[in-house]
Amino acid sequence: MARDPRPNTVVLLSMGYDSLSTWHQLGRPAAVYFDVGSQYTPPEKARYEKLRASFPQLLPVQDLRWLGNKEQSDSWVPLRNLVMTVQAAALGFNDVVMSAPADWATDKRLMFTLSTTLAMRAAQPGAGYRVRRPFSHWTKARLIAATPPELLEEFAYSCYEGADAPCGRCPACGRAIIAHLAAGREPPTALPPGLSLRELMDLRRGESNGSRLSEAARMHPGELLYVPLRGWELLRAWNAYRKR
Ligand SMILES: [Zn+2]
Repeated sequence: MARDPRPNTVVLLSMGYDSLSTWHQLGRPAAVYFDVGSQYTPPEKARYEKLRASFPQLLPVQDLRWLGNKEQSDSWVPLRNLVMTVQAAALGFNDVVMSAPADWATDKRLMFTLSTTLAMRAAQPGAGYRVRRPFSHWTKARLIAATPPELLEEFAYSCYEGADAPCGRCPACGRAIIAHLAAGREPPTALPPGLSLRELMDLRRGESNGSRLSEAARMHPGELLYVPLRGWELLRAWNAYRKR
């Protein structure tokens, strides 16, 4: 049987901490950003364009705003990752890399990457297609700790509010704060002093005022069960917070 052709890698960059770190761990190969026209697209896209100015292996932004228009009330966009994966491959790559430190989303799970790989290999035998999540067993804190802080400080964006500066109060900002503390890094947004352990952990669910429910409603299905950090990492974050 003929061996697969050499892998030609492309990383699906969302400009969040996980995907930027994944891109870095793989030696900064080609990458692509899909514009789905969501409220947090402008800050993500601006950072992607700035990164692309220094790394010409980054592809032009791909316009998927028509797909973003299909967004459901709970933020779910049907078949989003399938469309992105197949489009990235069709742009001329046979090794498509997704970042997914936890697999709560059905279109990021192992079953998804295996069956997408199989579908593309059936569609075009011999091209050596593969869809993979090489750091699926890593936590967000481990990914952050393995990535130069300058790359994340300058280019990462992970906030549900969509303003250019991250809000520091939504669940995405809260998880970034705790993951940075656990990684021994300075958090990307201001951290209130005097929090209890529980209040610090609650940052992962967003501000504990009346806005929490509405923020929860905007999260992806299953995200409330999403555990991006291990117990010992939460303890390490707490210890780092107390020493500040
Ligand atoms: Zn935020």
